[in-house]
Amino acid sequence: MDERGAPNGIPRRTFLRAGLAAGFAGAAAIVLASCTWDEPRPTTTPTATPTPTAPPTPSAVPRPTNMRRSAWGTDPYARGAFSFAEFGSTDQMRTRLATPIGGRLVFAGEATSSLAPGTLQGARLSGLRAAGDIAGFAEPGERIAVIGAGLAGLTAARELVDQGFEVIVIEARDRIGGRVQSVVDDAFGTPVELGSWLVGDDEGLVGALAAASVGTIPFLGSAAVVRIDGTQVEPSTAGTDALVRAHVWSQALPHDVSVATALLQSGEVPASEAPGDDGVSPAGWLRHAISSGLEPLTGAAATVVSAQAWDPAQLLAPPPGLSLPTSPISGVLDQLADGLDIVLTSAVTQIATNDTRVSLRLDTGESLTVDRVVSTLPLGVLKTDQVRFQPPLPRPYQLAIAQLGMGVVDVVWLAFDAPFWRADVAADATAEAQAEGEASDAGSPASVLSVVGGFPTVARWIDVGVATGSGEAVLVGVIAAAQATRLEQLSDQDFVSAVLADLEPFATATG
Ligand SMILES: Cc1cc2nc3c(=O)[nH]c(=O)nc-3n(C[C@H](O)[C@H](O)[C@H](O)COP(=O)(O)OP(=O)(O)OC[C@H]3O[C@@H](n4cnc5c(N)ncnc54)[C@H](O)[C@@H]3O)c2cc1C
Repeated sequence: MDERGAPNGIPRRTFLRAGLAAGFAGAAAIVLASCTWDEPRPTTTPTATPTPTAPPTPSAVPRPTNMRRSAWGTDPYARGAFSFAEFGSTDQMRTRLATPIGGRLVFAGEATSSLAPGTLQGARLSGLRAAGDIAGFAEPGERIAVIGAGLAGLTAARELVDQGFEVIVIEARDRIGGRVQSVVDDAFGTPVELGSWLVGDDEGLVGALAAASVGTIPFLGSAAVVRIDGTQVEPSTAGTDALVRAHVWSQALPHDVSVATALLQSGEVPASEAPGDDGVSPAGWLRHAISSGLEPLTGAAATVVSAQAWDPAQLLAPPPGLSLPTSPISGVLDQLADGLDIVLTSAVTQIATNDTRVSLRLDTGESLTVDRVVSTLPLGVLKTDQVRFQPPLPRPYQLAIAQLGMGVVDVVWLAFDAPFWRADVAADATAEAQAEGEASDAGSPASVLSVVGGFPTVARWIDVGVATGSGEAVLVGVIAAAQATRLEQLSDQDFVSAVLADLEPFATATG
């Protein structure tokens, strides 16, 4: 890795360190999880003296007609997007978190799933598992509280109600869904998903979508990569191959290291910045694999992701059977919630357990006593002191909470008058399509766009019109790790300027 300038001229290492500190110290600022283009937000750090503004540079990128953005890192009820394997953590830590405590309290939520952490599938499975565990301890007719009305909580609550228990769901937000947040906004011509969007190939989840009449279409993810000068290049696996070799190298180590350390110590960081035949250096392709692959998939920097646990092979062959919902994905949550006793706008601040009961204190000043509790508090929330446990959680649980990582990923939805990027950027055949011998979509417009070279703010763009076949001029930008943490602090205006600058290569792209 070199020391060349990151955005704003900050040296790369300083930039990464600053981003990490900001991302994992648990930012105190509370902002809305999302806001609209029309709603101005106060900036969190007003400046005392006006800063001279640089003269605007002429841009080939038109202004969007509409914008929606998320801010999961500073969201007080998420504190991040999803869990990831931080170096030093193990899968057993997830299993530990999922183990009931004294038969009275059990954790669920994506971070407690060893099979599919960080996903809808993992959240759903964890809800089923927790409901089964707590039901095993409970007597018929007992009163059970479920904390959190996300997918894990509603799945657990539905299951427990079906088994005849008296269930109350307590949710901090004024809505259900948690990290599933569907917004219906006619300006986009398609449901806007500010949280989870892609659905994995999981029978239970696909069944739940079908039962809620949420249709899906296959997502192939045909990719196009352009250099910062706008020239389209054939995607190279050079960077991912280096990540794979570093991962394999790390398996022989007696202890875990970060992906960055594994790359350095295994000699996989290319020494030369000299461009290859495609005009991109091997170091450039490695940075591309990290910024458009590792970071959006983990929400974290290579300096903290586990080399032994994180498998980069997923970058070479995307999981088969990915699909996109054609109606709001929140329909699944609405169906699960139907008929449940849910208390909104009530954050749990204390969970006190004894041999016979569990008492919950809420931020409304109320408290309630139940027989048992399923907690789906996100890992990011458990890492803070927002919720007090009485007695304190046993040490192995505290260790798991501290050691597992919570990544930050945000999305921005932009609507334009016309798809200015589409005319010039065509797809290369996907690895998946090639592997499965499917008809290649090479030559047709790409659905996933990324930039190689430099340090892009946006990890990758998804062309919604192409991905869904609707043709809408809508792009979704995925912003990850330190960049997500940095951008969450920006006003809407500065945020839009930052992400539009990243679209410049597509406005001038030459195929
Ligand atoms: C930007 C983004 C993109 C994603 N993309 C995908 C994807 O494409 N595919 C995929 O499978 N997954 C994806 N995910 C992950 C997926 O959304 C999550 O794994 C899943 O929704 C987590 O569900 P959960 O029930 O475990 O947690 P949550 O949905 O977070 O539910 C926890 C609930 O607890 C509530 N809560 C928090 N604190 C308190 C408190 N003190 N008292 C009471 N309630 C509280 C929260 O408000 C929330 O409703 C994405 C996530 C994000 C953020």
